[in-house]
Amino acid sequence: MFISELLRERRVTVSIELFPPRQDARLEGARAVVTEAAGLAPDFISVTCGASGGTSGNTLEMTRFVKQCGAVALAHLTCVSSSRQEIRGLLESYRDAGIENILALRGDLPADADFPLPGQYSYASELVKETRAFGGFCIGGACYPEGHISAASFEADIRHLKGKVEAGCSFLTTQMFFDNNILYRFLYRIRDIGVDTPVLAGIMPVTNRSQIGRIIKLSGTSLPPRFVNILDKFGGQPEAMRQAGIAYATEQIIDLIANGVRGIHIYTMNKPALAAEILNNISHIIKAG
Ligand code: FAD
Repeated sequence: MFISELLRERRVTVSIELFPPRQDARLEGARAVVTEAAGLAPDFISVTCGASGGTSGNTLEMTRFVKQCGAVALAHLTCVSSSRQEIRGLLESYRDAGIENILALRGDLPADADFPLPGQYSYASELVKETRAFGGFCIGGACYPEGHISAASFEADIRHLKGKVEAGCSFLTTQMFFDNNILYRFLYRIRDIGVDTPVLAGIMPVTNRSQIGRIIKLSGTSLPPRFVNILDKFGGQPEAMRQAGIAYATEQIIDLIANGVRGIHIYTMNKPALAAEILNNISHIIKAG
């Protein structure tokens, strides 16, 4: 099923993100994670891929398994380190596997390479265009409520986002954020410039202090003082931090749904149990939303 149809049909959707293993040997464990995630009956499950395309074989395998478990699958596809021929080959593999949804991404730039290399991709919008021309896929894109970390300005970033949507995105998923007002401002600004695509709000339950430092450094996501206090107070006590992280994400989601946001995407870091606890906390809220 196309995610665009699903977003039209349902009032509130909840989706889950998983990542593939780096080595084939670990695929068995990844299958167990997919089975557990699919058991939660999310609206769809997305599977990430490495920026250099290094895990693309495992992304394909994991997405195929998502489908076998009866869930709608979304495969992430990065283009920055791939040739057009490689991308075409991957699109053919996804089509042959019956995967209908692609999140078209640029991927982070490799630190040691010139950019762009001749014949390669510079921006996700090129991949969106190419995937659209290939045909048969519902295409999503990434967006950044605080602006992409390497964008010249917030305005420039949302202008590029508009171009990416016009190239053929049917929905957008946000980078994680910890202050809902940032998302509300972003939605206001993109609607104002004519981007009216559905936006799924990316929520990460932070249950471990060490996980967050690296992510923040790479993404530039800001942490509101209320959240920093939680990290400071409970970061050294794993069980308390887990409870606080789930409660914080739950509260964020309740506020989002109360304010009319209809798509919630949970970054589970391959721990579907976290999503299970959140979904349990909001089971009636999802139906009422
Ligand atoms: P783009 O949309 O191409 O934007 C990248 C930058 O280029 C932005 O600063 C933008 O403003 C600028 N730009 C765009 N078009 C132009 C233009 N025409 N001229 C000048 N500047 C332009 N990474 C992975 O490696 N694997 C994943 O699976 C993955 N999944 C993700 C899922 C989500 C929901 C999100 C939010 C991010 C994900 N990422 C993933 C990270 C993402 O690949 C990086 O943030 C990357 O740096 C940007 O990718 P993009 O697709 O947003 O790029």
